[in-house]
Amino acid sequence: LPEHEIADRRDHGGAEHKGDKGAVAHEAARRRTFAVISHPDAGKSTLTEALALHARAIGEAGAVHGKGNRRGVVSDWMEMEKDRGISITSAVLQFAYDGTVVNLLDTPGHADFSEDTYRVLAAVDAAVMLVDAAKGIEPQTFKLFEVCRARGVPVITVVNKWDRPGLDALAIMDELTTRIDLHPMPLTWPVGVAGDFHGVLDCATGEFVQFTRTPGGATEAITTRMSSAEAEQLLGSTWTDAVEEYDLLRSSGHAYDHELFLSGAASPVLFGSAVLNFGVRQLLDTLVELAPAPGARPDRSGAPREVSAPFSGFVFKIQAGMDRAHRDRLAFVRVCSGRFSRGMVVTHADTGRPFTTKYAQSVFGRDRSTVEEAFPGDVIGLVNANALRVGDTLYADEKVAFPRIPLFAPEHFAVARAAVTGKQKQFRRGIEQLGEEGVVQVLHSDRRGAQAPVLAAVGPMQFDVAQHRMEHEFGSAIRLEALGYSVARAVAADAIPIVNARAGAEVLTREDGLDVAVFADKWRLASVERDVPAGSFTPIFG
Ligand code: GDP
Repeated sequence: LPEHEIADRRDHGGAEHKGDKGAVAHEAARRRTFAVISHPDAGKSTLTEALALHARAIGEAGAVHGKGNRRGVVSDWMEMEKDRGISITSAVLQFAYDGTVVNLLDTPGHADFSEDTYRVLAAVDAAVMLVDAAKGIEPQTFKLFEVCRARGVPVITVVNKWDRPGLDALAIMDELTTRIDLHPMPLTWPVGVAGDFHGVLDCATGEFVQFTRTPGGATEAITTRMSSAEAEQLLGSTWTDAVEEYDLLRSSGHAYDHELFLSGAASPVLFGSAVLNFGVRQLLDTLVELAPAPGARPDRSGAPREVSAPFSGFVFKIQAGMDRAHRDRLAFVRVCSGRFSRGMVVTHADTGRPFTTKYAQSVFGRDRSTVEEAFPGDVIGLVNANALRVGDTLYADEKVAFPRIPLFAPEHFAVARAAVTGKQKQFRRGIEQLGEEGVVQVLHSDRRGAQAPVLAAVGPMQFDVAQHRMEHEFGSAIRLEALGYSVARAVAADAIPIVNARAGAEVLTREDGLDVAVFADKWRLASVERDVPAGSFTPIFG
């Protein structure tokens, strides 16, 4: 065989991997891949840190190799992060716990939404919904929960900050039921009201898990288990009240039901305090014991790709501009099946072209290290991924294409124009690229013309990122003019002229050809709706 063909066969690893199904299935079964959804300030960073400390973080910043003096080049992007005190990069933290490999995918934690946050939820098998005990379900939690529900992602609820005064535990259960129609199934129940926290009732065993406050610095809360009788002796009515409350819940249908959890209709609930490291171990145990392992993923025709099939994965995030000097473009791939080995040549499903993975990386925060192997549930970062777009599938040996990640309904719109004349080519290329990466959605209309595309975003910060990159990466600074629209609907062809004739509304066309009607607000939508045939407008989400 010619040299390159030998290399090719070795890279594909054909035979070697076929005897490998059992090992891959085993690795998949011990993976848990999840994200934390919460409102800013609920304690996501604190919880993430506590989880990593409890487990043994194997992707910690200290374990980074081979960056040498390239560190400085990244600064541009980081400056923007520093300015805002937020994290734009979205990455994954991997750690081992109790024989399980846990992948915690980061969802950017700022008040503004971006589609990145939503897309991460396409790459997880479960979500942890972090609720501030004093605030209940807040707007961002609500939105992210809706995405989980739409995607069928099972949710574990953690009520955080129980060390501080807050809502009544039963009132929080009520909120879950009435506000988001999520049936709560407590696994632990707090002993003592928020702010006067003694520990939790372990709902499965009826035991008391006592919490002892430690003077700062402890990485793990000190807990003592005792029987109900001992707890009653120690705490009297504080204990018996907790037991009665939980009994009431259990007898009214709130006992744990695994099928209900997996279906997404119900959620196991834990109480804790991330800052005091209490409840963190219980959360890890819950993830290991109850959260689903990666399973067969349906392809575009609905046929399942078994985890033990040859390698496959899809891109759920693209990050570019981190390293300007190297035109660095990093594609985050969630592995769906098979064994990924660095260096293997995979096929890009949409084009049929080969893609080399010599530079595959695992990604933690801004730090990267080379990944040698990955299994279903893991996330790999592919550098120089210029041919890849969000939603693309990569596979080895056996062809597969996964459904694309849906675009979300934008709520912010702005016309973009090149700030400097004579940069039209750079302008067009940049806008096109940002659209492809999904940094913003790009819409056009004949009325506005090709020089003035409309950028649409789920969160306004996406505009800042677009503006920054247009200037610094594509060499065409842009001016943005905000449009006063906040509601978008897919629109039927018949209704287009009617929408365009109205003030506070117009029709734009998305890159994929979808006609989108945008409205100043929901009242404008309602008023236009009266003038068009029923069913002319349909929600875009999904
Ligand atoms: P994020 O925005 O969701 O990442 O929230 P952070 O983890 O940054 O936490 C926001 C604030 O809440 C910080 O001041 C934390 O110290 C505090 N915090 C987080 N968890 C707890 C907790 O369990 N109890 C108390 N009292 N404060 C907490």
